[in-house]
Amino acid sequence: MSSMDKLEYSTSSHGDQLIDGIWVDGGGNEVAVENPATEEVLYYVTGASPRQVRDAVSAAEQALPAWRALPMQKRVEWLASIVAGLKARSAELADSIVAELGAPRRLTEKIHVDLPLACTSALCSVAAEIDGTWRAGGAAVTREPVGVVAGITPWNAPLHQILAKVGAALLAGCTVVLKPSELTPGNARILGDVTVAAGLPAGVLNVVQGGGPDVGAALVADPGVAMASFTGSTAVGRTVAAQAGSDLKRVSLELGGKSALLALPGCDIQAAAMTALASSMTNSGQACSALTRLLIPENRADEAMQVLTEAVHRYRPGDPRDPSTRLGPVVSDRQRQRVRQLIGSVASDDGYVAIGGAEPPEGLSYGYFVRPTVVAGVTGAARIAQEEVFGPVLTVLTYVGEDEGVALANSTSYGLSAAVWSQDAAEGLAVARRIDAGQVWVNSLGFDSLAPYGGVRSSGFGREMGLAGIEEFTVTKAYLGAIHDEG
Ligand code: NAD
Repeated sequence: MSSMDKLEYSTSSHGDQLIDGIWVDGGGNEVAVENPATEEVLYYVTGASPRQVRDAVSAAEQALPAWRALPMQKRVEWLASIVAGLKARSAELADSIVAELGAPRRLTEKIHVDLPLACTSALCSVAAEIDGTWRAGGAAVTREPVGVVAGITPWNAPLHQILAKVGAALLAGCTVVLKPSELTPGNARILGDVTVAAGLPAGVLNVVQGGGPDVGAALVADPGVAMASFTGSTAVGRTVAAQAGSDLKRVSLELGGKSALLALPGCDIQAAAMTALASSMTNSGQACSALTRLLIPENRADEAMQVLTEAVHRYRPGDPRDPSTRLGPVVSDRQRQRVRQLIGSVASDDGYVAIGGAEPPEGLSYGYFVRPTVVAGVTGAARIAQEEVFGPVLTVLTYVGEDEGVALANSTSYGLSAAVWSQDAAEGLAVARRIDAGQVWVNSLGFDSLAPYGGVRSSGFGREMGLAGIEEFTVTKAYLGAIHDEG
């Protein structure tokens, strides 16, 4: 192992579960944490036992009254000190994400560390807007914290997804039990350490580690949990929603996607194709909002394929620790198998692999690497055009006429993101209005830390980021009768 693989946090002496302000050893199942670039086991995490899940929720329940009673400014100050603590450990956070996710180092600091910290600071900047009282008829109305939140997060942007929930829920006045992904637990451990070092009151943030079907499911079902905030696959989202439904708990679901970039006739095809390619390759395609379907007017398909063929060499798979690498491995053997299988499905759907393919990349004898792949020739009904791949694969589809393009963009069960490329911004916006997705970019692609983020249909419901993200963790309460103006 290189020195970078010897992760500080993995050898620290404390236990794996942060319950009521104290790290304790797990009492549940052991989980191996792997380095996907080397296939080596980095360390083992002992998951929480059912009793520990209960204890963590109980600690959050105990901490709730004092936390929700704090003035908003105090909660903002706590979050700011957590952000400062994480910033001071940026290099360690980046090391853990490179090692456990296989994310290329050149992108990790910017995307996986700086961006989530900036988003949390952005939450702080708008938090005061949910405070206060407004009038509705004779009533005084406020937003109150929903209660104890179970935050369950995936591995693909691990710190980002954690802070989107933890930051917003804490600002709303909720206390939290976090269950991070078992594939990338290192950053959650650092977050827990930072909150302990900052002196955050015990029980305000608890971290239970371990697998989904045992630890995650027990957490969602715990009677002390008022709301489950889940980010992950649509399949598990349905299970979480079913449990929350049977308990009548609040639930928010940030699920999968199969987002389209719709290139309108007359647009800059080169820019459109390059954007879809970059979006499909970044983080090895493991991004819920990746624009993995490029929809091109039929008479411009050759032009688009040429752009893609010339540009794909930028995404040569390699060691994520090498500063020149742009494309790391996918996160696990399971994920690699799924991606390869979906690439393999293209032939039976009468399509073809134009670039890349399911075979292992040359020169990489270990690691869960997948060739950067572009497929074409399929219809919108093909498996590869319908299912989330979550690997470095772009599907090119063609259409004739705006109506067919819009229908194709809307033709999956998902509705997370989309982009429209047009020579005219007004035309682009008019088409964007016809697309069923939580967010649509027009002639650009980026991230706005205050823009509400979330999906429709099988991409889930609920919003994260900015004010909408904090509101998600509140309930509206009306005070009637003998009330005063100061509320
Ligand atoms: P996953 O659904 O397998 O796991 C997500 C989390 O849920 C993990 O912490 C896991 O341990 C836990 N879990 C698994 N089974 C559970 C159960 N029965 N009860 C409770 N918790 C359980 O997803 P993943 O593979 O970690 O992440 C990839 C998926 O996440 C992709 O589908 C991706 O699109 C989606 N995602 C969505 C967004 C968004 O904002 N919409 C963001 C990132 C990722």
